[in-house]
Amino acid sequence: MTTSPDVLKTSSESSAKTSAASEESPLPSATLGGEQRRSIEQITLLLFITVPFIALVAAIPLAWGWGVSWLDLGLLVGMYFLGCHGITVGFHRHFTHGAFKAKKPLRIALAIAGSMAVEGPLVRWVADHRKHHRFSDAEGDPHSPWRYGETVPALLKGLWWAHVGWMFDEEQTPQHKYAPDLIKDPVLRRISRQFVLWTTVSLLIPPVVGGLVTMSWQGALSAFFWGSLVRVALLHHVTWSINSICHAVGKRPFKSRDRSGNVWWLAVLSCGESWHNLHHADPTCARHGVLKGQIDSSARLIRWFEKAGWAYDVRWPSEKRINSRRQRETAEAA
Ligand SMILES: [Zn+2]
Ligand SMILES: [Zn+2]
Repeated sequence: MTTSPDVLKTSSESSAKTSAASEESPLPSATLGGEQRRSIEQITLLLFITVPFIALVAAIPLAWGWGVSWLDLGLLVGMYFLGCHGITVGFHRHFTHGAFKAKKPLRIALAIAGSMAVEGPLVRWVADHRKHHRFSDAEGDPHSPWRYGETVPALLKGLWWAHVGWMFDEEQTPQHKYAPDLIKDPVLRRISRQFVLWTTVSLLIPPVVGGLVTMSWQGALSAFFWGSLVRVALLHHVTWSINSICHAVGKRPFKSRDRSGNVWWLAVLSCGESWHNLHHADPTCARHGVLKGQIDSSARLIRWFEKAGWAYDVRWPSEKRINSRRQRETAEAA
C-alpha cells in the first residue's frame, strides 16, 4: 500500500474538522427524513432503483417491438448528460470537493441539475461522498467493494455492496458532521429538501416534451419510458460503477492510499469521472482526466463556465502537481 500524506488532505477532512466545532449549535435538517432510514426519500430511492432497472431489462424486447423514435433517443441522451454533469460538475467537483467556486445562479443550476439525476438529496450525496474519501477502502467507507475481504466470493459480494447495497445501509452518514457548509446555505438546504419535487420534474420533462411534439399519448408514453425510466436506470448504474468497478480494477498511475483505478471505457458515459485514480490522488483537482487523450467532459464544461465568468478560482492541474502524484516507477520511467 502506498501512503502519500500530502495528497490525503481532502476538503472532506477539513470540513469534517470545522464541523466538530459547529456540532453544538443544532442546524436545521436538509433532507425530509433527517438521518432516519425509512424516510420518504429512502422509499423514493428504492422505487427508482428497482423500477428503472426492471424497465432497462424490459427495454430490450420492447426495442424490437414498436421501436424507439429519434425524439425518445434525443430525450434519453439529453436528460442523461444533464443529470450526469449535474452530479459530476455540481454535486461532486463543486459541492463535495470545492474544485472551483461558482456564482450563485450557477450554484443553483448545478444543485437542481444534480438533483434531477435522482441519486438522493444534495446534502446526503455530498456527506456520503466526503465520508468515502475520508476512509476510502478502509473501515468507515460507505461503499468500498473490499468490505467483505479479498477472496473472489467476498469481492463479488463487495462489488454488489459498492454498487447498490450501501444505499440501504441502516447507518446514515451524519450530515451535520460531513456537510455543515451546505446545510448552512438556505438555498441549497431548500433544494436538498425538495428532492422529491426535482425527481418529479426530471421524470415529467420527457413525457411532456414527447407528448407535445407528437401530440399523442403514445408519444408521451414512449418518451417517458426511454427519456425517464431507461435514462435514470442507466445513469444510476454508471454512477455506482464508479464506486464498484473503479475501486476494483483499472490502472493506477498515481499515488493514493486506496484501490481507486482509471477505467478508460467508462470515461464518456461517466462524464470523465472514471479517471478515478487521479481523483483519489488529488481530490480537489477540477480535471480528472489529466493525462493525454483522457476524455473528461466535466472538465470541459467547467472551462466553459470559467470563460463565461460563472466559475472562478478553478483548481486546474499543473504539470508539477501531476508529476508529484505519480507512482515512483511511473515518474522515473517518464
Ligand atoms: Zn472513490
Ligand atoms: Zn470525490
